[in-house]
Formats: sequence, C-alpha cells, structure tokens
Amino acid sequence: MSTDVVVVGGGPVGLMLAAELRLGGAGVVLLERLSEPSRHSRAFRMQARMLDVLSQRGLLEQFTDGNRTWPKAHFAGLEPLLDFAHLGNEHPYALLIPQARTEELLEKHALALGVEIRRGHRLTGLDDAPDAAVCTVESPAGEYRLDCSYVVGCDGGRSTVRKLGGVGFTGSTPTVRALLGDVELADPGQLPNGVPGTMRTPAGLLMAISVQPGVTRVLTTEFVAPEPGSERQPVTLDELRSTVRRITGRSIGLDRPQWLSRFTDTTRLADRYRSGRVLLAGDAAHVHFPIGAQGLNLGLGDAVNLGWKLAAVIAGWAPPGLLATYEAERRPVAQRVLRETRVQLALMDSDPKVDPLRETFSELLALPAVNSRLAHETTGLDVRYELPPGRYTHEVLGRPCPPLTGSVRDETNALLRAGRGVLILPDGLERAATAAAGWRHRVGVVEAKGPGLLLRPDGHVVWTTPGPGVPEGDAVLELADALARWFGAETSAQR
Ligand SMILES: Cc1cc2nc3c(=O)[nH]c(=O)nc-3n(C[C@H](O)[C@H](O)[C@H](O)COP(=O)(O)OP(=O)(O)OC[C@H]3O[C@@H](n4cnc5c(N)ncnc54)[C@H](O)[C@@H]3O)c2cc1C
Repeated sequence: MSTDVVVVGGGPVGLMLAAELRLGGAGVVLLERLSEPSRHSRAFRMQARMLDVLSQRGLLEQFTDGNRTWPKAHFAGLEPLLDFAHLGNEHPYALLIPQARTEELLEKHALALGVEIRRGHRLTGLDDAPDAAVCTVESPAGEYRLDCSYVVGCDGGRSTVRKLGGVGFTGSTPTVRALLGDVELADPGQLPNGVPGTMRTPAGLLMAISVQPGVTRVLTTEFVAPEPGSERQPVTLDELRSTVRRITGRSIGLDRPQWLSRFTDTTRLADRYRSGRVLLAGDAAHVHFPIGAQGLNLGLGDAVNLGWKLAAVIAGWAPPGLLATYEAERRPVAQRVLRETRVQLALMDSDPKVDPLRETFSELLALPAVNSRLAHETTGLDVRYELPPGRYTHEVLGRPCPPLTGSVRDETNALLRAGRGVLILPDGLERAATAAAGWRHRVGVVEAKGPGLLLRPDGHVVWTTPGPGVPEGDAVLELADALARWFGAETSAQR
C-alpha cells in the first residue's frame, strides 16, 4: 500500500492539513488512533485570523452557524479587555465554538475533498528511507505497512512521529498544575465571582465559564510544580473539589462530571519542523499553557502554510527551497506564541507580589496602541512572513491579504478555495498581466480597481504594486520574480 502523504493524527490540525493537501492535488491517508471522535472539547475559541482563512475556504458559515461571536477577550485575566473592533481584518471578532464541533466540520470538509480517513489506526513505527517513508500501523485488522513520500506528525504534544523522527522537543518542565472539570454546579451562587468569573487568591486561580446549558467548566491553576509522573494520572471529582476548596477557602457543590482533565505549563518547541521525509505541525511541534486560546489556531496556521507547499512538492512544480520556508515562516510564529503565553501566565501568578505588575499592565492595556498590539498578537493577525529582499518594500508584503469587498472578494475566495494563487491586478498594468500569463494554471487573475496584490494559496501577500516613485518596470520585474519564487517555473504552453 502506498500514498503521497500520510498525516498522523485526526485532531483539528491533521484534518485541516489533509484537506489542504487534497486542494493541492496530493493523495492523503490520515491515520487516527481513536475509533470514534472525542466528544470532549479542549478549545472553545477560534481567533480572527483563522475566521478569515475559514472564509477563504468557504467554511465560515458552517462554523458560525448556531455559535456566538465575541468582540473582546481578556489578556492574562486583566481589565481592560482586548478590543477586537479595530483589528482591521474581515472578521474582527472571536468565535466561540467547541473543539469537537470544529473537528466534526473539518472532518466533513476533508472527506468531501477525498481524504481517506482511517480511524482506529495507530502509527507505531516509522522508517525514513531514502526513496520512501515506511509507516508501521496497528489497526483492528492487524499490523500493516504503508509507504509514502512524506509523513506529517499532527499527533499532538506527545507525538510519536516526532520521537520516531528523532526531533528534539526543547523547552521547560511544568511549574504549575491545572485542572479542568466540566461539571454541574449545585448552586452557581456559591462561586464567589459567578459564571463567567475569575477568582484569584494567594492559593491559586479559579475560572468558571458556561460551556452548555447546565454545564460549567471549572479551571483551577495552582502555582506549584506537579508531582513527577502525575501528568498521566486520571483526575477525580474529589481532587477537583479539594483543589477548589484550597483556592477559594469554601466548599462548592460540584457534581456529575462530564469530563475531568489535567494540564500544565510545559512549554516546548520542536528543534526542527522537518527531518528528511518527516514533518511536524500543530501540538506535535509546539506546546504551551492554554491561555489566550491559541494552540489550535496556531496549529491550523501551520496546516494552511504547509499544505499547498507540500502538495506542490508532490506535484513536482515546487520551486527550490519552497518546503524549507514552512519551518522558516512558522517556527518563529510559534516562538512568539510560546513567549506571550509565558507572559500571560506570569501575570496570572497568584503571589500578591505580582499585584503591582498586574496594576501596571492594566494601565498599559488601557493605551490603545498596547491594546491593539496584543489583540493582533493573540489573534494571529500580526503574523508577517519574512520575504527575500526585493526592489522595493511595502507594509503589506508577507502579511495576510487585507480585506477585500464585492466581486473582487468573491472571485479571490473562489480561487483560494480551489487551492490556487491569486493575482489581483488593477487596470492599466498590461505588462504585469503579460508577465503573469505563464503562471495562469496556478495563479488566477482577478481584475480590480485598487492596488495590485499577488496572494499565495494560504492568502499571504507576496507582491504588491509599489508606492509613487517606483518605475512600473520594477513592479513588473518584481512580479515575475515573485511568481517564479512561489509558483515555480513558467509554463510557456499556457501563454
Ligand atoms: C484546557 C484547554 C483549553 C484550550 N483552549 C483552546 C482555545 O480556546 N483555542 C485554541 O486555539 N486552542 C486551545 N487549546 C489548545 C488546543 O486544544 C490544541 O492546541 C489542539 O487540540 C491541537 O491540535 P492538534 O491537532 O495539533 O493535536 P490534538 O488535538 O492533540 O490531536 C492529535 C490527534 O492525534 C491522534 N494520535 C496521537 N498519536 C497517534 C498515533 N500514534 N497514531 C494515530 N493517531 C494518533 C490523537 O488521538 C489525536 O486525535 C486548549 C487546550 C487546553 C488543554
């Protein structure tokens, strides 16, 4: 048995990546060890940048259907809140959607695109040979081997692929212990600050949010290192109750647990995102304390960045070095998220000696420039990929496509949805249109009145018309360079 790409892990990142690979024409088998999707949801928030991406893929309406949006979010539990109204993107808000629903919708999307999903199939071995990667898979029907050109580990923080691929996971050991309980409250009035609410005492932090009618998610964080080996021990309701009592100083009626879990602030980053035929994405490449709702969003960003590049390699048209830009672009993004989640956790520390820092930070959050910077950072909208130096610079280069409107938006999204690049070209730039003719099969052209933009299939801008003072000839040469750099050799037959 063989396929182009084996994606290991059917969490949100694996499902999204598999779909993106299919958009680019690659054959994909997705292995997921669980025989049924998990009913439990870790994540509940989709960030603004990812809402724009889902919209470009024609998926946003399914995601928003029946789910609430929210124009603000906290940073480290502080006031004032981050204000998303000024993000300047197409969907400047957060979407509250349970991870289980996100996975259900992404699985539907992946299946519709022709991904072969094998549930109950666990990767147990990996041989990265020169001409193929050979996966060993345990399945209900027995063990089998699966050959492929590439394997992508989307198999979570304890990634088997990462370990078998010999990639280090450098970072810190836990300094806090945290519990999660989706429970029924005997009396919501017993919670000192209600639901939703946060309570900080010298003993720790308690957060409570409503996850469905009658079910409250209780999250506790104690700023002491967990006992070695406790990470894999199941949580009991008594443990949650006694932790809540330690933090709040009172007994609170918690019953009928739907899900109990534990997590820590282990913060680690894969030393490399690629080793031979093995690549990593999502939690397999980076883990951090789940504050600010970023892990799933960060992983989906990996998937959208990697999918079209790896598909181009499989299809044989990838320009030299294209696949290497995956790690070069995405690892620094993860590094920033890891740093910023550490900042948030440090600010949340229950030790009263952190109070002056919190007070100062709250004053800073009231400054529009600071509030906006952190809003962009936590929503992924500050991501700017570093492009090779060109004949001129422009603020938009490397960034996500700015909001478009009307038919330009619709035509652009239709092309992105098909996994293609897009050249948005204003009237009068005939020389640019001629220069782009040889890439028509990979880059669709949309005529527009505004500035010219060249978008990769992940929606990032890699060329734009320059400001005044730059000769048109430079813009045309720059466009031809960008097309060759991101979309491979020109095909003269298409002229
Ligand atoms: C309490 C909490 C709240 C969170 N809230 C948010 C939030 O609001 N927003 C946000 O963006 N992020 C949030 N996160 C983080 C988010 O849940 C993760 O970042 C996200 O699940 C990572 O997705 P993934 O697909 O990379 O990995 P996972 O979701 O861990 O999926 C990995 C999959 O791989 C499978 N697998 C593992 N090993 C194998 C194998 N050997 N063979 C086959 N399959 C295998 C697993 O069964 C699993 O299905 C939160 C996390 C926690 C703990």
